[in-house]
Order: sequence, then C-alpha cells, then structure tokens
Amino acid sequence: NYRARSTYKLIELDLKYNILKKGDVAIDCGAAPGGWSQYIAEKIFGEIDSQKVYNKKRRTAKSKMDVQSDEEEDIDDKNDFSKQQDVQNGLVIAVDLSSIEPISGVNVVHGDITDHKTIDKIKTFLGNRKANAIFSDMAPNFSGKHLVDHMRSMDLCEAALSLAQETLGPGGTFLCKFLMGENDKELRTKLERNFRKVLYKKPEASRKESSEGYFVCLMYSSDVK
Ligand code: SAM
Repeated sequence: NYRARSTYKLIELDLKYNILKKGDVAIDCGAAPGGWSQYIAEKIFGEIDSQKVYNKKRRTAKSKMDVQSDEEEDIDDKNDFSKQQDVQNGLVIAVDLSSIEPISGVNVVHGDITDHKTIDKIKTFLGNRKANAIFSDMAPNFSGKHLVDHMRSMDLCEAALSLAQETLGPGGTFLCKFLMGENDKELRTKLERNFRKVLYKKPEASRKESSEGYFVCLMYSSDVK
C-alpha cells in the first residue's frame, strides 16, 4: 500500500516507458507524503512486478492509457547512461517542503526546490554521480484561480528542469506534472531543447476532469538544439 494514490500514475508511466531500473539514481521532487518514493525505492533496490501491482489496483479499469499524444516511437536506445552505473548502488533522493516519514533506503531533503541551498543538499547526496531519472509531482498551494495556479505550476516545472540541468546524466529521464494552461507550450519548447523526446501524457489514473498533465521527457542531452 502506497502513501498516495497518485503512485498509480507513476506506475502507469513507468510501465509504459520502462523508466526505473534496479541500481538507478533517482530524485523525487515534491515527494511528500512519499508514495512515489516508496515505489521508486522498490524498483531501484528490489524486485517488484509493477504490472501485477498496477493490475491489482485497477482491476476494474481498462488497462490502456488515455494517450492524448500521437508521439510514439522506438525508444529502445533511451537511457544508455543507466548501463554505465553500478547496478548494485541505487540511490533515491526525496525532496519536499513538507516533512516525509522515513522510507527505507530513501534520502530525504527537506526544502524548497526553488532555493539553491536545496539543490546543494541534493548534490551532496549525489556525490559525483548523476541521476538516471528525475520526477516532479510538485503542485503549488492552490489559490483557486486557474491562471495563478497554472503559472505557479510552470515555475515549479522550471525549477525541476533547472535541477535536471545540473544533476541528470546524459540519456536520463525527466517526468513532471503540470497544470495545463496558456504557458505549457512554452515549457514544452524548453523541454524539447534538453531532451530528444518529449511526450505529453495524461495517465488513466488521473481524473478526467483535472487539468493536470505530465510531460515525459526521454534521453536528456545538452545538445539537442
Ligand atoms: N508524489 C507525492 C506522493 O506520492 O506522495 C505527492 C506529491 S503532492 C501532490 C505535491 C507536493 O509538492 C507537496 O507535498 C508539496 O509540499 C510539494 N511542493 C510544492 N512546492 C514545492 C517546492 N517549491 N519545493 C519542494 N516541494 C514542493
């Protein structure tokens, strides 16, 4: 049992894109209360059958994703970088403004992702390693005004992208939640300057009426454009 139901959104995206592997280094931004980090740690340190876990939860739902994008391509060559990391030495770093109850194997950084001191703490845990995957399920405190919430969400995505630019290894994956709105195209353009493939997804586990979506960005590269 995970601490947050939203974990099933991550499982769905991981099943589809094969993001997490044993021994990976991952950073989970906006991790409290800790559902995503629990799953990430299970994948990185142990063996779990994600499909089984997902099916059990979603037995009544159709198993296909609600794909709103036509961008499907062979992504076999993604994450070459992960093959270079020592498969025994996984590392999970969970970051949040709120405190997180301990999760076995997970290093917690308590802080604001927009504050460089928080990035420095993350880098201390990384040492000389780079991340294979960076996740952001961050959400602003909702004001109730869509435009304000959208803009705050864009700022959080940009902060997570800056973290990725400093800590993600070549070929790495970046996944971020955002609230849809007028500036998400601009965000997408920025992401496309950093990743070979940027896909828009709305997981089936995400409520239809919510205005949230996810960008799944594959194959980080500093020289895409
Ligand atoms: N994925 C989490 C889980 O599975 O338990 C749930 C995340 S919750 C939807 C969003 C989180 O983003 C909140 O815990 C919030 O504190 C965090 N957050 C919002 N702004 C942040 C910021 N500037 N820095 C770090 N965390 C932030």
